[in-house]
Amino acid sequence: AWQATVGQLQMEMSKAAFDTWVRSAEFVGHQNNTVTIGVQNAYARDWLESRLSSTVTRLISGMLSEPQQVEFIVYQKDYHDGPVELEEEAEAPASAQGESESSSSQTVNRYTFDNFVVGPSNRLAHAACMAVAENPAHAYNPMFLYGGVGLGKTHLLHAIGNSARAMGLTVLYVSSEDFTNDLVEAIRTRTTAAFRERYRRMDVLLIDDIQFIAGKESTQEEFFHTFNTLHGQEKQIVMSSDRPPKAMVTLEERLRSRFEWGLTVDIQPPDLETRVAILRSKAQRARRQVPPEILDLIARRIQSNIRELEGALTRVLAYADLSGQPLSNELVSSALADLIPQRSSIEPNQVLETVAAAFSMPLDRLLGRERSREVALPRQVAMYLLREEINISLPQIGETLGGRDHTTVMYACDKVADLIERDDRFRRQIIQIREKLYGRSPANG
Ligand code: ADP
Ligand code: MG
Repeated sequence: AWQATVGQLQMEMSKAAFDTWVRSAEFVGHQNNTVTIGVQNAYARDWLESRLSSTVTRLISGMLSEPQQVEFIVYQKDYHDGPVELEEEAEAPASAQGESESSSSQTVNRYTFDNFVVGPSNRLAHAACMAVAENPAHAYNPMFLYGGVGLGKTHLLHAIGNSARAMGLTVLYVSSEDFTNDLVEAIRTRTTAAFRERYRRMDVLLIDDIQFIAGKESTQEEFFHTFNTLHGQEKQIVMSSDRPPKAMVTLEERLRSRFEWGLTVDIQPPDLETRVAILRSKAQRARRQVPPEILDLIARRIQSNIRELEGALTRVLAYADLSGQPLSNELVSSALADLIPQRSSIEPNQVLETVAAAFSMPLDRLLGRERSREVALPRQVAMYLLREEINISLPQIGETLGGRDHTTVMYACDKVADLIERDDRFRRQIIQIREKLYGRSPANG
């Protein structure tokens, strides 16, 4: 209902006002006919209270067909922009207190090895991080962890930090942006000596999203020295990045080579089974009963980003609570409707063109009679995507692809679905095609 209300407001308000005040507001909880909406600061709260509270109350009451109160609170989100944590919703709804852990140099307690679900896509990264946590500076140093958005890099960094701190070591977690800002501030206030002291005193330095230091000269220079000092004193350094060192184009060579001194591991998008396991674990921690087929359905819809996966579950549960409906396929569809572009908004032609482009193949070759393997797979992918993304029948798909019969299409869909589960590279390729289809760049997750 909140999402629907937001949609309504978006139509009724000017874009600027909507973007400023409403877009970042989040549903926090619903109890005793009071809907709690979290906003990021007191200005937003006051603004919403004075101008929109009656409209929002009316909209939400209408949607839930029962009078509701609406309250706006200043809500400290997870300090990076993840979804509202399920646990927080279950245990401490509407807490207006900012958590002390939002200070960036602290580690987040709930990111532990215990609640990290391991599967084929992250097994190596997990094992490497465990090894580092058990034996800081003596397992792999530095360790360089890379992978796409929302796949658990930050979680693993914190898990190492929490474990090292429990061993009595001093730990500093920073994003490379924090590091840069700190440095700039130190230079401005002439306190670079203190800056260095702070960083170089650590037993374990965790630097998240290191890719952002590429291209920044003075930051790279400073980090080079920090790195050398810590490494020379046998202190552990762990870095995460969205890409491997060799793909950081504007990174200084001397840093690149150091990043590769220790162990470089990647983390991949999770397969279906792991996604289901992650959802199951989140639901359990939120103490919610969610039927397996519902978890499966959500896991099939969100494929490439665990943060989105969690967000989708949160959303489905909130929908169920607010509407009082049982968890069903229909509920999942409506809860996730605006998260995932409407299937009908995509035309068969777009699918064909996107697939042809992805395999660098002219469209008429894709649609033609040729039977070589080189064409067969792209053609099967096209059939699969038409089936998955657009609601058209198997015979229609066969028709669209140059008059093939529906059993061919069925076989193609099964084969591609099977390949997606078995072959990581292939799965990523399909995800990329989907993202192109929906006009999203992979970087946006
Ligand atoms: P990244 O830093 O790679 O963008 P995060 O570490 O922020 O990703 O992970 C996004 C969200 O997904 C976090 O809430 C994290 O706890 C969760 N998450 C990621 N991987 C796992 C996993 N294997 N098991 C459980 N939760 C996970
Ligand atoms: Mg991260």
